[in-house]
Amino acid sequence: MAKTYEPMAAVAPFRFDNSFARELEGFYVPQRSAVVRAPRLLFLNDSLAEELGLDLASLDAAARAAVFAGNTLPEGAEPLAQAYAGHQFGGFSPRLGDGRALLLGEVIDRRGRRRDIAFKGSGRTAFARGGDGKAAVGPMLREVLVGEAMHALGIPTTRALAVAATGEQVYRERVLPGAVLTRVAASHIRVGTFEFHASRGDVERVRKLAEYTIARHDPALVTAPQRFLALLRNVAERQAALVAQWMNVGFIHGVMNTDNMTLSGETIDYGPCAFMEAYDPAAVFSSIDHRGRYAYANQPDIACWNLARLAETLVPLLSDDPEQAVAMATEVIVAFPAQYRRHVLRGQRSKLGLGRGEPDDDGADASLAEDWLTLLHAERVDFTLAWRRLADAAAGDEAPLRALFADARAPDGWLARWRARCASESVSAQHGGAIAGRERARAMRRVNPNVIARNHRVEEALAAASDQGDLAPFQRLLAALRQPYDEAPELAPYAQPAPAEVTAGYRTYCGT
Ligand code: AMP
Ligand code: MG
Repeated sequence: MAKTYEPMAAVAPFRFDNSFARELEGFYVPQRSAVVRAPRLLFLNDSLAEELGLDLASLDAAARAAVFAGNTLPEGAEPLAQAYAGHQFGGFSPRLGDGRALLLGEVIDRRGRRRDIAFKGSGRTAFARGGDGKAAVGPMLREVLVGEAMHALGIPTTRALAVAATGEQVYRERVLPGAVLTRVAASHIRVGTFEFHASRGDVERVRKLAEYTIARHDPALVTAPQRFLALLRNVAERQAALVAQWMNVGFIHGVMNTDNMTLSGETIDYGPCAFMEAYDPAAVFSSIDHRGRYAYANQPDIACWNLARLAETLVPLLSDDPEQAVAMATEVIVAFPAQYRRHVLRGQRSKLGLGRGEPDDDGADASLAEDWLTLLHAERVDFTLAWRRLADAAAGDEAPLRALFADARAPDGWLARWRARCASESVSAQHGGAIAGRERARAMRRVNPNVIARNHRVEEALAAASDQGDLAPFQRLLAALRQPYDEAPELAPYAQPAPAEVTAGYRTYCGT
């Protein structure tokens, strides 16, 4: 079949302003998307399209499908494949890059934020190596579900704007229907982007990339002294905050390679990711993570390890004195664990229904949270439900919480401590105990979700979409994930854990 592009003049839904293409020549390879056989739109994120100020009203269904499958290049797009390297499972790959992804360009959204518009699964690029450049319907719809779930939970994330079926087959372990994802991100600058140029000894390009990153993500630093060190500090702060949020919702990224860690602080690349069910610090779902490098409890350490790789790339920019430069970078990395603990404790405090607390309370509150998690681990209690039912306990009803434990008395000792801690706050509050309890419960239900993207629900939705072309389960699940803190009766099926056998055998796959 002749690969011809459709005319583009009339298609201008995006108002592109492409700073990456303009300012970072040499950091990418221009590349058109592949033309696919039979584009059909499976998903369009209307609220995100609105946020981006897109003009889609003038496009009919066929025109939209052609744009989001990559057949029609929208006016102003300058598609390109970004170069990046990356440490994958600890080993360095000097040349990864967008093998099956393209940055179309950037738009300034309604709130003035610059956002990347990118394809995934849009065909081979100069970085494709042995890959086919394609993506399958299931994994692209997974990006929609998990990304929207994270967004609804208030966790910084890239988001799916659209998924278009290609009408073509993709060959994996079995034959799958193909799809193209359109992804929106604060940027696609990764730790691996810095590593690509640093590993080639190209300090000037590292500097240029750092300047670009500062202008884009930390404009307040443009004129600051030691701006490259300050950039490293800000990235560390964003990652500490991000990973703390992951940990507090039981999210396991699954493939925290340095090419999957952004400078913007957004979660990126929902491949072998999963939400934890029964609390287990060693939880790991990825089929290729044999040693548990990216297990739940390792995520803060891995974030720190990845930041150290970023720091190494910046060392030549920090000082003319190499020893001093290393010392400066090291100071930021060494500070990370405590920085992370501050963030995670802040989150845990609000999950426990406590106020911000005095510095004097830090140790006691951290061990209160720690002991709660130890209890959940010992009793194999569902992480999400336990926190949610703790809110019921705050409102005066302990029965739903106790029902999660094989031995209903197991939480006795811990609950007494928690109540004493809550009471120490209530004393200074205006209200009597009962009212304070109900208010505490309400506050807890605003931070402890009822609905997360449970693995069996995600799989069920993806299987129906991919195998039967039935998008109804996907749409119902998506609607539930977009209201994670509600407890409406129709959400109940999405709040229930998977049968234990399902979770025990659950595996997720990447590179799909
Ligand atoms: P990921 O596991 O999605 O983070 O991708 C890791 C690297 O493999 C990136 O350089 C991707 O562009 C590349 N890659 C993954 N799948 C494919 C594919 N089907 N075709 C070409 N490159 C791919
Ligand atoms: Mg990736």
